[in-house]
Amino acid sequence: VANRTAARVGSLLAAAVACGFVAGGVQDRVRTFAHEADEPYVGFSRPDLTLTSGGDAWIAFLAYDGSAEAVLLAPADSPGAVEVVSAGVGTRFPPRVASLAGDELAIVWCERVEGQYDILLRVKDGADLGPIERVSAHAAPDASPALAATATGLWVVWVSARDGQYEVYARERVSGQSAEPAEWSAPFRVSEHPASDVEPSVAVRADGEAWVAWSSWRDGDYASGNYEIYARALTADAKPQRVSTDPGVDVGPSLVAAGSGLAVAWTGATFGSVAVEDLTATAYDAWRDKRFRVSWLGDDGWSAPLDVRRRYAGAKDVHVGDRCEAVSGPDGQLWVFYDEFVAGGVRGKGLREMRMVRVALGESGRPLDLARGHAGTAGALGVEAGGDRLWTAEGMPEDGETPPGIRVVVWSAEGLARITSPVASRVRRTRSEPADEGERATRSDLARGPDERHTVTRGGRATSAWFGNLHMHSTDSRDGIKDDGPPDRNLLAVLDVAALDFACLTDHSGPALRTLAWRAQVRLADLWNRPGRFVVFPGYEWSSPSYGHKNVIFPDAHAAAATSPLAALRTNPTDLWEHLGDVPAITIPHHTSHGSLAPTDWSFRSDERQRLVEIFQKRGNYEHDGARLQKDAIGGWEFFPGHGVRDALADGHRLGIIASPDHGGGLGLAGVWAEELTRESLYRGLHARQTFGTTGAKMSLWLDVEGRPQGSEVACDGPLTLSAEVRGTVAGLRLVLVQDGAEVQEIAVESDRAEHRFTAECATGGSYFYLRVEQADGHIGWTSPIWTMLR
Ligand SMILES: [Zn+2]
Ligand SMILES: [Zn+2]
Repeated sequence: VANRTAARVGSLLAAAVACGFVAGGVQDRVRTFAHEADEPYVGFSRPDLTLTSGGDAWIAFLAYDGSAEAVLLAPADSPGAVEVVSAGVGTRFPPRVASLAGDELAIVWCERVEGQYDILLRVKDGADLGPIERVSAHAAPDASPALAATATGLWVVWVSARDGQYEVYARERVSGQSAEPAEWSAPFRVSEHPASDVEPSVAVRADGEAWVAWSSWRDGDYASGNYEIYARALTADAKPQRVSTDPGVDVGPSLVAAGSGLAVAWTGATFGSVAVEDLTATAYDAWRDKRFRVSWLGDDGWSAPLDVRRRYAGAKDVHVGDRCEAVSGPDGQLWVFYDEFVAGGVRGKGLREMRMVRVALGESGRPLDLARGHAGTAGALGVEAGGDRLWTAEGMPEDGETPPGIRVVVWSAEGLARITSPVASRVRRTRSEPADEGERATRSDLARGPDERHTVTRGGRATSAWFGNLHMHSTDSRDGIKDDGPPDRNLLAVLDVAALDFACLTDHSGPALRTLAWRAQVRLADLWNRPGRFVVFPGYEWSSPSYGHKNVIFPDAHAAAATSPLAALRTNPTDLWEHLGDVPAITIPHHTSHGSLAPTDWSFRSDERQRLVEIFQKRGNYEHDGARLQKDAIGGWEFFPGHGVRDALADGHRLGIIASPDHGGGLGLAGVWAEELTRESLYRGLHARQTFGTTGAKMSLWLDVEGRPQGSEVACDGPLTLSAEVRGTVAGLRLVLVQDGAEVQEIAVESDRAEHRFTAECATGGSYFYLRVEQADGHIGWTSPIWTMLR
């Protein structure tokens, strides 16, 4: 299998284009390894790059050959010589590569082994690629590996979910003498905080001491919580040190040895906010005012962070991106490679451009264009030992004119060395650690405590209210919306910042979600899905300019992989439902009556597929014309008559209710009643329409007719009793019962909890009933309807 895959991928890569051109006197050589065939299902991941002491450059990356991903290793200047590190049936994440002493190479990656995600490693010694070594073997997911060479071997760091939260772990591998096998130290836990510790990066100082930096979610509170960069030495008694200082988001550290010390570069941002009329919420997946920052570890601690890059002065449509990578050259100078986002183009879709900047100690560099005008994803960077030349490698996107591929560029360091005037002073600060770091519970813990979970028992069956986000976009959507973060960070924000129970990334189907990006998202959903803790569904958004927008939610990777978001780009909803065939999936229309966005065409109906509707999102409320909260923060919109949720219910659609944020999350929550926090149980609840939606408050709304919950279709033959059970988040609730579009009964309570029985008649022609709950603070919640029919 490996050989066949090697031959196949090798032939793809051998279709290489080498074009030598000089741009602006800085570009030495450009090599593009592109796939030329016109199969739409081939893609390449973001590559990693390493330089050996002898000056050879190697790249490692993931390539999708049409059936599975392979982990590949290749000399950066010899594309045909690809070696297969891991291939065949399986699920793999992009690898990292490092050169070791003695010109060995080590490749580390995350792969699903025997049903669990683990960290694997292979070492290449000369021509020999050694056996696969299992770095982690724990049943909990292990992911996000990074590695760094030592004088005698290497360190691997990774994220493990084994302690209930994400924690950073590390292991050292000492190479064996002559024919002796290598020795591994026992894995040890690096991070100590009970909240999420993610995105580790490892480096070995000139004196041989290994360090790790990572991003840690602290003080878990929606308003004041934040991600901070922490670092510590990989010695037994070392304590984590806080590197970043600002409130907000500090993520994605890239740690390197620089001079005799260390430097770390990362992405900083602040939380945005979303407002609909008078309701405002922290936009937890909209990280604003991004910048790349750098800090050095010197004799007196970490330096105050220095901005490497913010936006261009006077060019407000240019924004820095999400990832950066640092490498160090001679004399401790630092090179930072990062992406910038330039708005514009078709539908406002933006372009990602790579930039590189050199930062000397205490100085800030002016960014220099790498390859202006070409779109790419963040890649890797290497500096040759002498410091004269730099290598960069990046994944190329699959859409547009450019074929998918890996781009490797060699640069003359000389031409890039344009340092602006030094920063006036370098502020040093000594940081102190909060004393009770380990004691502090996170909001995630509190929100998930068993006492807080609202559970309702009917007919011997107990279901609980779970909260999630079923509509959000990442940078994969390429919408040109600068605030959409990378897929994994969005999921992290739903888990940490919003402290929700379940999520689905719904990036746009079509070119943005081709091949590897879609597979990567399905893989990511699988990796992040942790039964009992955080449930992640795979899905995408089908956006038709003629028939409206629908999200497609799949119960699992198997269902998702059986369809294609590309093939789903059909002309109308019937085509979409036919494409889904007998694959389990739910389609959920949104902004159904937005006057300036495509309203939902309700003449297409599928009671089996279209089980739910999104009644509220960041743009506002689609319940009915004139309902509260119908203006979004950017100036309001017209209700397109006849296309609201009540209009659809009046047309006979059997739609359950949810809400979710869409771009730049914050306002809009999906609620589902289910036995347990698993994909199976939640999907059953969604499919059964045992759902509710809220404007963002974690209020739970239950409604039943004689024990039959919201979403049910009930036969009746006399007066009906509808039982409501509500837990609000503030005192002062108004419960409104809606029957067939009319608000027929209401009660008000001063408490934050309400239990009430409404009575109604069993109408001859059938009726629908739903409950709307209005809180004193302005938040609204809606239950799914219950449909009744005269027996
Ligand atoms: Zn949409
Ligand atoms: Zn959307």
